[in-house]
Amino acid sequence: MTKADVLILGGGLAGLSTAYHLNALGRVSSLVVEKNPSVGGTAGTVAQDGFLFDYTGHLLHLHDERAKRLILDLLGRNVASHRRRSFIYSHGVHTPYPFQANTFGLPERVVEDCVAGFLRTVHRPGPSLPANPSFESWCLRQFGPGISRHFMLPYNRKLWRLPLSKLTTEWQGRFVPRPSAAEVLCGALGAQKKAFGYNSSFRYPRRGGIQALSDAFLARLRPGQVQVGCAVQKIDLRQRVAVVEGLGEVSFKRLVNTIPLPDFVDLAWPLSSEVRAARGRLRWNTVYNLNLGVARDVSDKHWVYFPEARYPFYRVGFSHNFSRANAPAGAGAIYIEAARPAGEAVDLVRLENAMLDGLRRCGILRSGDRLLTKLWLPIRCGYVVYDFARTPALARILAALRRRGVESIGRYGAWKYSFMEETILDGERCARRLLGLGAPAGSGAPGWDAELRPLR
Ligand SMILES: Cc1cc2nc3c(=O)[nH]c(=O)nc-3n(C[C@H](O)[C@H](O)[C@H](O)COP(=O)(O)OP(=O)(O)OC[C@H]3O[C@@H](n4cnc5c(N)ncnc54)[C@H](O)[C@@H]3O)c2cc1C
Repeated sequence: MTKADVLILGGGLAGLSTAYHLNALGRVSSLVVEKNPSVGGTAGTVAQDGFLFDYTGHLLHLHDERAKRLILDLLGRNVASHRRRSFIYSHGVHTPYPFQANTFGLPERVVEDCVAGFLRTVHRPGPSLPANPSFESWCLRQFGPGISRHFMLPYNRKLWRLPLSKLTTEWQGRFVPRPSAAEVLCGALGAQKKAFGYNSSFRYPRRGGIQALSDAFLARLRPGQVQVGCAVQKIDLRQRVAVVEGLGEVSFKRLVNTIPLPDFVDLAWPLSSEVRAARGRLRWNTVYNLNLGVARDVSDKHWVYFPEARYPFYRVGFSHNFSRANAPAGAGAIYIEAARPAGEAVDLVRLENAMLDGLRRCGILRSGDRLLTKLWLPIRCGYVVYDFARTPALARILAALRRRGVESIGRYGAWKYSFMEETILDGERCARRLLGLGAPAGSGAPGWDAELRPLR
């Protein structure tokens, strides 16, 4: 039987970072098992016909100094910085992101709607909101009816795919910029100077797509430490043995989960009926990502948001502008994103036709454009849905897993809306907890959980 002190399920950035930090900080054996033939997970890249396609846009937003040092060290010279060129397309015009701070250029009545509504909410805010408001009521209160109607509500309906009165605001803190009244006015007059949001600049590998980051992690791990093509099939939490495709039984002292939490609960036992019921309350959506290679440099933008219902996608991006190596010389690489509730039957041929038609109607594709290649890369578990059931259900599941000595981390293990930098930090914190080292000084992260005994 294969044995490991720490068995890590999933070879995405969370799993790779955990293994990397366990090696760097301690003397324990760890094994990563990944079901796909290569590492990277959602931050992976697929090569086809001279194009490199990520699972939609995957850009490095580096805010934490430690994470930044590590990521830049891993990528070495293979990284470039970019200033965001992102826009909203509505009413037939492009306005810079974020919508709420850049309404100049929209039809006059739309600008008036947005600015007057925003100023009314500032000067006459009305009754205060409950502690945990719905996203819909929060938007109306925060931005007023115009900005809500013209962007916030239709865009988020397309992304989250549930009534926004059922969506919480727990996810939005760093993702939705909140300009001041002066900034909204400046943006309506075409005088906006400020770049808003967590992603106003980003980095991206010069070569190899975002896969280059996972490959750089892999190169720093021990030979054999990561086993690909090895799906975990069953997990006995009492005996601490997992059944893994191609490896058979693997015994472990501690388990780190990074695969989607609902899948983990389905594979693991014994777990109580309350935990299984809580798993049944977790919701997520699937992102249908169509990638196109076009025989023309189709755009100088990085990505564009589409709030209007007449377009079947919520975002379209141009990955040849992240790295020229993502497409052959002179060609354009487009990624198109649409979301659906998990489990909903989707006719990909119809969706593809609707997407191509939408791209032509908004002018991204021209008649006569030659498609060189196309590739669907659906992300089955794309966005964790923050409805009102999520927080209590998640707390119940994670508490039960902690009692069994399981760490569940990363975007899908911890069941949250997060990005790559945070995922890498999750792996570091997890390794430190496993080794009983506590949180790194000045990180602001919680210390290790007293319920989980460290390995030393
Ligand atoms: C549409 C979209 C756009 C995004 N854009 C950005 C961006 O621009 N910038 C950014 O920083 N972040 C972005 N992210 C977030 C980023 O993808 C994640 O934070 C990060 O990749 C999550 O890594 P992870 O290891 O937690 O999960 P994953 O990458 O999902 O890794 C989990 C791994 O587990 C494997 N697995 C699943 N089941 C099994 C099994 N039974 N046995 C073994 N292995 C299994 C999977 O194959 C996968 O490799 C985006 C995410 C999405 C969905």
